[in-house]
Amino acid sequence: MIYFDHSATTPIHPHVLSLMQSVQTDMYGNPSSIHYSGQKSRSIIENARNQIAKSINAKSEQIIFTSGGTESNNQVLWSMLYNDKKHIVSNVIEHPAIIKVLQSLKVLGINYSLVDVNSEGIISINKMINAANDTTGLISIMLANNEVGTIQEVKKVVELAKKKDILTHSDAVQCFGKMKIDVTTLEIDFLSLSAHKFYGPKGVGILYAKKPELLHPLIIGGNQENGLRGGTENLASIAGMGLAAELATSSLNGHIKHLKQLENQFKSGLKKISQKMIFNGNQSHKLPGLISISFPGQNSNTLLTKLDRNNIYVSSGSACGSGDIKPSPVLSAMGHDHTTNLSTLRFSFGITNTAKEIDFLLSELNIILSNK
Ligand code: PLP
Repeated sequence: MIYFDHSATTPIHPHVLSLMQSVQTDMYGNPSSIHYSGQKSRSIIENARNQIAKSINAKSEQIIFTSGGTESNNQVLWSMLYNDKKHIVSNVIEHPAIIKVLQSLKVLGINYSLVDVNSEGIISINKMINAANDTTGLISIMLANNEVGTIQEVKKVVELAKKKDILTHSDAVQCFGKMKIDVTTLEIDFLSLSAHKFYGPKGVGILYAKKPELLHPLIIGGNQENGLRGGTENLASIAGMGLAAELATSSLNGHIKHLKQLENQFKSGLKKISQKMIFNGNQSHKLPGLISISFPGQNSNTLLTKLDRNNIYVSSGSACGSGDIKPSPVLSAMGHDHTTNLSTLRFSFGITNTAKEIDFLLSELNIILSNK
């Protein structure tokens, strides 16, 4: 099989898997127990917290373990119910783990404004700041988009928001391991990450909070995570995530270089295929190895199925629910009409992909696109 869908999820790193297996087998003490076995488990959690803090230049007490990007986003947004200022500014290309949460919070008294994007998938900083008013408590802007990979100017938003005393959050789920993330330089208040996007396990994630005391728990129970997330910790997954973060950080430059090489090879090979193509999103400010392409006149579902038959796995650029492919709201917001929207594929490369696999993808695409 040839896997080109790393933005959906990544395979687990073998070192991460073996660590998780040994933790699962040997470390069964409850991290909240006072005895030696419990304290051994506690030290595994705190070690992972330090690994993660180091990898994003945070302090370990600023790291909260969650079940993933969705929960991290939810916790920030739901916490705004307790804020005096109950208006949130975000934008139309956020993940549903932001947009749907805002829709749910509306009935509970949170107002929100979503600003649009330009045809290149760039969110206007000025629009975001101008959408803020005296009641705005939070601005949430993703670091990079999950469908087209466009990197947003989060630092500038943070600078301007700070002047207006507005908190800032960034969904950086797609970015860890593909670009440097330094929360101290970014000066962001909250940031969400998810282990399964950087060769860690599924169902575990991170919420960075500059001031954790501004958050409220979503999951209420014991005093785990300093009272910010009740429930006995997912020890093996947290340990795995810590190691995955360390590995992704130490190999970041090499990984970026590898992804760029594969992307360049793919793009130059595509030039030899006689089919109109639209590369979605700004091509210079984007994550390496994530390429969204519309193939006018084609249907993404058909293309995807044909690639799948050849054991090549990619994503359609559109949201798929109950077998019914719907146009992507992100591509619609960028100005794509219905049929172009439904002709889009997302290719996302990863550490283990090779030049040979890209050649195979190109030759299969050539056959499929020319209906040979
Ligand atoms: N935010 C973005 C930008 C994502 O791409 C995803 C997953 O695809 C999520 C949030 C949700 O993360 P998780 O699957 O860890 O809940």
